[in-house]
Formats: sequence, C-alpha cells, structure tokens
Amino acid sequence: MTQRMQEPGRVQGLPITDHQGLQQALQEANLPSLLMVYVQLSGDEAMLDAFASHLQSIYTTEVSEVPEDLATDLRQRLFALLTAEEPINEPPLSTDFVRHMMSVSVGEAVDPELVPVLYDQMGFERPVPRKEQPGRPQPPADFRVLVIGGGMSGIAAGVKLGEAGYNYVIAEKNSELGGTWWENRYPGVGLDTPSHFYAYSFAQSPDWSHYHPKGPEIERYLLNVADQYGVRERVQFNTRVTALRWDEHASLWRVSLESQGEVSEESFQAVINGHGILNRWRMPDIPGLKDFQGVAMHTAGWDPEVDLKGKRVAIIGTGASGAQLAVAIAPEASQLTVFQRSRHWVMNNPEIHLGVTEGVKFALRHIPHYMEWFRFRVYWFTGDGLYGNVLRDPTWEDQSLSISAQNDGARQYALAYMQRKFADRPDLLEKMQPDYPIFGKRIVLDADGGWLDTLKQPNVSLETAGIERIVENGILTRDGRLIEVDVIALATGFELAPALGSMQVFGRGGVEAGAVWGRDEARSYLGIMVPGYPNFFMTQGPNSAPNHAAGVNMVIESQVNYIIEALDLLVARGAKALEPTEAAYREWNERVDSQMQNMVWLHPKASSYYLNSKGRNWVSCPFRLADYWSMVREPDPEALVLK
Ligand code: NAP
Repeated sequence: MTQRMQEPGRVQGLPITDHQGLQQALQEANLPSLLMVYVQLSGDEAMLDAFASHLQSIYTTEVSEVPEDLATDLRQRLFALLTAEEPINEPPLSTDFVRHMMSVSVGEAVDPELVPVLYDQMGFERPVPRKEQPGRPQPPADFRVLVIGGGMSGIAAGVKLGEAGYNYVIAEKNSELGGTWWENRYPGVGLDTPSHFYAYSFAQSPDWSHYHPKGPEIERYLLNVADQYGVRERVQFNTRVTALRWDEHASLWRVSLESQGEVSEESFQAVINGHGILNRWRMPDIPGLKDFQGVAMHTAGWDPEVDLKGKRVAIIGTGASGAQLAVAIAPEASQLTVFQRSRHWVMNNPEIHLGVTEGVKFALRHIPHYMEWFRFRVYWFTGDGLYGNVLRDPTWEDQSLSISAQNDGARQYALAYMQRKFADRPDLLEKMQPDYPIFGKRIVLDADGGWLDTLKQPNVSLETAGIERIVENGILTRDGRLIEVDVIALATGFELAPALGSMQVFGRGGVEAGAVWGRDEARSYLGIMVPGYPNFFMTQGPNSAPNHAAGVNMVIESQVNYIIEALDLLVARGAKALEPTEAAYREWNERVDSQMQNMVWLHPKASSYYLNSKGRNWVSCPFRLADYWSMVREPDPEALVLK
C-alpha cells in the first residue's frame, strides 16, 4: 500500500548534472541532514558513527564541533554519489538503524515510536490514494460530507476526502480560502513555526523564501495546494454554517447555511468542523472603546487602507500578534505606545528573519531525501524536542520560577537574551521580565532587529500602568495620564470559550453542544468527536492544540487521517452513524486531566487563553505530537458505537 524508505529501490533524480549548483548546496545545506542523506543512500554506518560524537542538540552548540576534514569528507562522498553515472539502489535499512540515524541527526536519543512518525509526517511514505487501494469499499456517491471552513484544516480535509473518493463540500464564510492567513493581514504578520515543517507532509515545498515566511507567502502556498488538488471546485464561498441538527430518523445532519442574507438547508451524512479556534476576535472590554474618534481595529480585522505614516499609534496587547505588528509599524508611526497587561516570555530565534539561501533551496529541490530529513530536524527542534520544557519534574526543588532542568535551561536562555537586549534599558527589563516559568503561556519569538529592539526606538514607549479607559482622543492610564493617539490597534487575541463559535450544533435528542459544554467547558474524545453527536468530527477540538511547541500542521493531518479512517469504517460496516462511547470519552478526558496536572500551563503563576474560567486547560494537548499521532492513528472499534 505504501512505499517506505527502507524498501530498496532505484533512487530517482540522479545523477545531478548541475555540479556547480550541487557544490553550493553541499556548502550551504544543513550538515546533519546531508549526513542522513548520505547514510540512507549508501548504508555507510561507519560515517554515521564518525559523526555521532560531534553532533549535538541545537540547544547546545550544534555542528560547530564537527572537524572540518570530516565535513569535507562527507561533502566529497556525497558529491561523488549524487553525480555518479551508475544508478544507485538504496540499501534496505532496519527500523533500529533508522532510529539510530534519527538520534544521530538531532544529537539526542530518539524513541523507537518516532520511526513510523518519521515515515508518515516527514513525507518518506508515498501512500497510494485511498480510492485506488484494491479491496477498499468505495464510499457511495450519495454519502455527502460537509467541511466547515477552508483554512489549513479544511484544505487538508478536502485533499484527503478527494483522494478517498468522498463526495464533499467546503463551506467557507470568506470570499477566499486560507483561513487564518486570509484573515490576518496586519503589517508584519508571519509564522513562528518553520515553514519546512508547517507545510503539509504530502505537499512539501522547496521554494520557501524564508524559514519563517510572512503571511501572504503562506496563504499563497495554501491556495496552490487547494488548486493543485482540485479542492477549490468543491468550495461554497461566502457561506456560513449557522446550525446543524442531527436527524435521528434519517441519520443525516440537517445543515443551515447562510449566504448573502439567504438561509438554505442541505443534508449531509457527516460533518467535519474545521473552522479553527483562533478566528473570533476578542474585542477588549475596556470602557470607552466606542467613544474613540480615531481608527480602532483588531489585528485580525486590519484595514490596509489606513495610512499609519506620521500617526500616533497605540497597540494594546503584547502577544505574538502585537509584537509582530509593532516591529512592522514602528518605522512609520510618529509615536508608538505599546500597552502591556501581563508579561510574556521572549525567546531569541536567530532564524526568525532568515532567508533560505539558493544553495539550501537547491538541496531541498534536488538532493534525494534532503527535504524529508531536514523536516525531521525542524520537527524535533521546534516540536517534540521541546516537550521537556512544559513537563513538570516532581523532583525539581524550587518550582516557583521553573519546573524542570530543561524548563530552567530555556528560562536562562530567554532571560540572557532579554538581559543582553536591555543592557542599556534596565527600565524595560524590569517591566518585561516574567515572574512565571517560561512556556506558562505562549512565548514570543524574536531576533536582533525585532521586537525588543523596536521597544528601544526613540518613538516607541512601553506602557505598563494599565488602561483606565479609552476616551475620544486617546487612552487614559490608571495613573491618570492621557496618551493621545490617532489609531488604536487591538492585538488582544481571540475568544476561544464558545468552542463552536456562533454555530449551534444539536445532536441526538436535540441536545445542543453549547448547552452541554456550558460557556467554556468543551470536551471531546481525542479532540475529534463527542458522544451524542454522530458523524460530527472536529479538527483542533478540545485538548488537541500542541501548545508545547509548533505542530498544528501535524495535529490537523493526524485528525483528518483519523476522520477518514472512521468514515471508511462506517462505510465498510454498512452503518449509518458513528460516535464514541461514553466510556471512551470519559477515559480520554481522565487521561488528559491527569497528564495536565504535570504541565506548566497549570502553574499557579501562569495565566493564558488555554485556561477556562475555572482554570481548566481545555485547549492544550498534554502529550507529545508523536504520542497524539499514535493515539489517533486509527479508530478503535471498541471505543465507538456504530449503528
Ligand atoms: P494573545 O496571545 O491572546 O495575546 C493577546 C494580548 O492582548 C495579550 O498580551 C493580552 O494580555 C492582551 N490583552 C487582551 N485583552 C486585553 C485587555 N482588555 N487589556 C489589555 N490587554 C489585553 O493573542 P495574539 O497575539 O493575537 O496571538 C494569539 C495566538 O495566535 C498566539 O498564541 C499564536 O498561537 C497565534 N499567533 C501566531 C503568530 C506566529 O506564528 N507568528 C502570530 C500571531 C498569532 P494578557 O496576556 O494579560 O491576557
């Protein structure tokens, strides 16, 4: 069914004839990833061993200690291999050997269960599209699936439903696909997750201009994928789903759709809610906001027509959006005042503004398996390699400022950066240094020339006195000062509490999900399903957000895969409705709640949008991405009721 990397086979795309391009690529590309390519193509274990003691986690000294002659030897061997006229047949590699390669490549021991994740999520597998798999029962043509939302989740669902032969429709409330990346158009909007990991595993791209590209480039990528896989033809644009009602008798979802003021009803056998969690703007409840006579706009509702040149601007909010916005608009504004309510940890990531060089792009395009191995490395160092940062070590003595040795290391790393940046501005350090463990809430990534440097500009000031109220010409601080402004940018985040937004979902017996969950008690089975709501699936549902690190892409793909497996099970069994058992739902929530007790997000000094009004974290997934990937790999029939 799938082609795996350890199956011996003729390597495609060789020999590489552009020798100059290859030489440049070998110089500029990531050395541990080149080593993996060489070992995979040659099976040369001795070379792996020669490097092993020199490769370390990037959080130490990375590859700087690899002796130059060893690096040169590797590059020469690889050049010879990749330019040789004779075809290369890849040697078969055992699972143990692959695991060893993975461990050497990141300089840390990697668990055996990571090997199947590597095959799937790094893109080594080339699965045969489901509808072409012999013996698989094909979904009936009148089995219709509704996907709500055409963002990253909806596009992935469309691609995979199409490959599985399902008749599907995507309802998108906007006039274009792209979700978050279509909506968030504020100056400086960009991606903290490295693009080589954020891209779908099945549609990787060697063409990213930056390791952390800006919003428009990510949106273009998503639109290209949608077009390439024929997803666009299935989209009903400008269409909002307002209500879903489960028709017990017909085993159908009766769906109310609103488009240009008209409401219509359609029926679907299954619904996938991919409308995301970070899309309902949170307008702050600051008194007087309506009195303001200038322009006030939320980052997610930015009006690019508003000219900020020479204007006095206020930004309320210092999360990822506020920080990015400040960097982009400070050079234009005559005066920029940033209002901080609570402190956010800021971490240095030198790659945040870095462009991808031509040599690296050549490697990604032409060197077999380089893209997959590089992706693995990025996944590890921005994903599961960071899990130890959020996991409490019960033996760690003083838990007031850090929760484990790794968490403390990250704290020291971030603090050193803040101290270095503010060596000449102790006032800013005093205002910004958090007093809670790092990762207790979402960190802000930064680099030289970015957020912290912006705060030091002569036309920029950081206000921490608190906002008393907004008045017609500015913002009144709690200590009685009026800061006059022309524009207020609300970087105040999103309203997550009603997990299903304004959409009403009535399950079995007409019970509304919102009523079951209360204002902010959303729970699920696996972050995907809820008992009493048959054939209703979610992506990024309760407790499935990877808040220890990057990886929303991986969660979404894992969930889409699970959902299609579940639909296939339904079709194969000739059943009409599928939902989790109460027992499975309860067990999953107990498991989540139990593991959550060990996570930094519940630290007494941490506060974040992950927590509901009772302090329960209903947003974050307390497991590693790889563990979650395994949990949702395929449906457990014992955990499901099929009728
Ligand atoms: P956010 O992280 O929720 O930050 C909102 C900010 O507004 C916080 O500083 C918050 O202060 C402040 N705030 C909220 N209400 C306020 C009020 N009434 N008065 C004063 N301050 C108020 O929102 P965000 O920055 O838009 O980011 C949301 C999420 O989007 C991020 O966590 C991330 O997952 C994603 N994102 C990613 C990127 C990227 O990848 N580069 C960029 C932007 C956003 P408190 O902390 O005190 O609540």
